[in-house]
Amino acid sequence: MAKTTRKTAPVSNHPPVELAIVGSVGLDTIETPVTLKERVLGGSASYACAAASFFTQVGMVGVVGTDFPKRYLNLYRQFGIDTDGLQIQKGKTFFWSGVYEQNMDHRSTRITELNVFADFCPELPPAYRTAQYLFLANISPDLQLHVLSQVKRPRFILLDTMDLWINVAKESLLKVIGKVTMLTLNEHEARHLTGEHSLVKAAKALLMLGPKYICIKKGEHGSILFTRKGIYLTPAFPLEVVHDPTGAGDTFAGGFLGALARSGLVSESAIRKAMTYGSIIASFGVEAFSLDRLKKLSLPEIETRARLFRKMGSVL
Ligand code: AMP
Repeated sequence: MAKTTRKTAPVSNHPPVELAIVGSVGLDTIETPVTLKERVLGGSASYACAAASFFTQVGMVGVVGTDFPKRYLNLYRQFGIDTDGLQIQKGKTFFWSGVYEQNMDHRSTRITELNVFADFCPELPPAYRTAQYLFLANISPDLQLHVLSQVKRPRFILLDTMDLWINVAKESLLKVIGKVTMLTLNEHEARHLTGEHSLVKAAKALLMLGPKYICIKKGEHGSILFTRKGIYLTPAFPLEVVHDPTGAGDTFAGGFLGALARSGLVSESAIRKAMTYGSIIASFGVEAFSLDRLKKLSLPEIETRARLFRKMGSVL
């Protein structure tokens, strides 16, 4: 455990962090029916921070090994992501490998090598502790609780999780769910966590645990926001070709929180508007592997697609 922690060189004069994102940072090998991409940049924090960076000043909290390619650190800086919270530990970076089936809607994990991620202990730099928006992406619920002990009353906390934590750390997961503003999870996880097949019943049970909002992700079918007052649907932007759905949920979450931070509001209508931006950014993200599409994306392109998206949903 005698590890040396070295922080990346701070970016000088960067603006205050509005949104702090804590999650995995890793190298992914992804196989689709047509392409194999090896050791590309991945991890929940990479996708979420890149997506949020179009709208707000975002700070990343994660860990990588000394083998982490410098070009990826440079890419974070190109996005304007504050990396003061990214630890570099002696050892190998988290590695994950997955394979998609013919129709791209099913994926199986081939390899998960935790490496330095196994001993990750998130520490927020002082400038992140007053961030008004916080995304607890997919890490162990105990670490998510550790992050919550470091922040000063954020206005909005979004929580993500996965099957693994429902199976091995349910008690801690329920504890952290009780402390957040919104919980996001996919339909399978919502059913698994509550034992309810109906998503409406599952969302009602999840609202009882404490969050004001539950966002259930349904992949290419969009997402559903549940509040105590009602239900709101956000479709996914229809695409002809999806090249790589990896990280779509994290891209959605980052885009959503970034847009919410930009609005300066946390009302239900601001949340609904921000969800459409989450959906739009995710639609760009899946057009290419890793962050390849997001790194070429501009805000005017996002706004153009957002206008088209609104038109698609309007009733004439
Ligand atoms: P998603 O498609 O939303 O499941 O996110 C995929 C990303 O999550 C990939 O870039 C992986 O590096 C990362 N990932 C895969 N397994 C884990 C895990 N057990 N913990 C944290 N991140 C993971």
